[in-house]
Amino acid sequence: MPAQQKSSLHPNNRFNGRYDLEKLSEVLPELKTFVFTNQYDSQTIDFADPKAVKVLNKALLLQNYDLKYWDIPEGYLCPPIPGRADYLFHVEEFLSKKRGGREAKGALVNCLDIGTGASCIYPILGNQEFGWTFVGSEVDPKAFANAEKIVAENPKLKDKINFRLQYKKTDIFKGIVKKHEFYDVSICNPPFHKSAEEAEKGSARKLKNLNRLKKGEKPTLNFGGKSNELWCEGGELKFITNMAVQSKYHSHSVRWFTSLVSKSDNLKRIYEAIKQAGAKEIETIEMNHGNKKSRIVAWTFLPPVGS
Ligand code: SAH
Repeated sequence: MPAQQKSSLHPNNRFNGRYDLEKLSEVLPELKTFVFTNQYDSQTIDFADPKAVKVLNKALLLQNYDLKYWDIPEGYLCPPIPGRADYLFHVEEFLSKKRGGREAKGALVNCLDIGTGASCIYPILGNQEFGWTFVGSEVDPKAFANAEKIVAENPKLKDKINFRLQYKKTDIFKGIVKKHEFYDVSICNPPFHKSAEEAEKGSARKLKNLNRLKKGEKPTLNFGGKSNELWCEGGELKFITNMAVQSKYHSHSVRWFTSLVSKSDNLKRIYEAIKQAGAKEIETIEMNHGNKKSRIVAWTFLPPVGS
């Protein structure tokens, strides 16, 4: 597989090109052990190997944002950074458009990240790219503790990113959003499979696409996701429709609620739930990640800014 297929990312996305694996290896010499020359005579890593992807991620974060530390426990979801950054670039553009073209940048933009994960990836990217401040919620105590450690070890992130543990899996905002708090936007990459079994099948498919799975072989999760991070009862449809229902009780605390939707077939029912909750506006933001399409759904209960 070629090192990159990212040409259709948001134009402002800095990960919109090939990685310079040589330069990245200077930042993190450990990366060298994973780099090899492929059949097209270009340098690459094995994107089906979670260890290689993790080291690449670490090098990218250290190089681009001058972080001092980044790591995730074994078996936890290792996010592909270009795609995660793309969500944020699209959301920043969307918020600016909704503010009459005024850039949505700086510490006054407050973002709630639902299910921040062990990697703390969205708060890192959003803070470093746009200066946003973050509250990240998480149900998994180990992921939560790891995200806290990443921030504690990076003085530049301190006081810009805070975390709150969600004690109830089915709650999204309750117990997280405090009275009198206001968020310009909430973001979410929901657990998208319906069961641990489906999560495994999804990984098998991915590996097959990468030509890595031999007949009858059991998959390891290629981006390292622990199956309980990747699934929830009812999959992404249930998670996002729950979010829509619960968002109405926080309609004055968050201006724009957003979520990734990985399956376009789910959009219709998600729209129905949002409409039923009484949202004033709903929009879908389309994204292209190489040959994979994805989308963000955004809704608000508040009147337009300045009206
Ligand atoms: N944001 C990270 C992780 C996404 S995986 C990334 O993009 O890589 C989804 C995450 O949501 C998991 O870490 C899971 O533990 C968490 N999660 C599941 N239900 C949740 C809930 N009700 N509230 C907060 N986090 C939740």
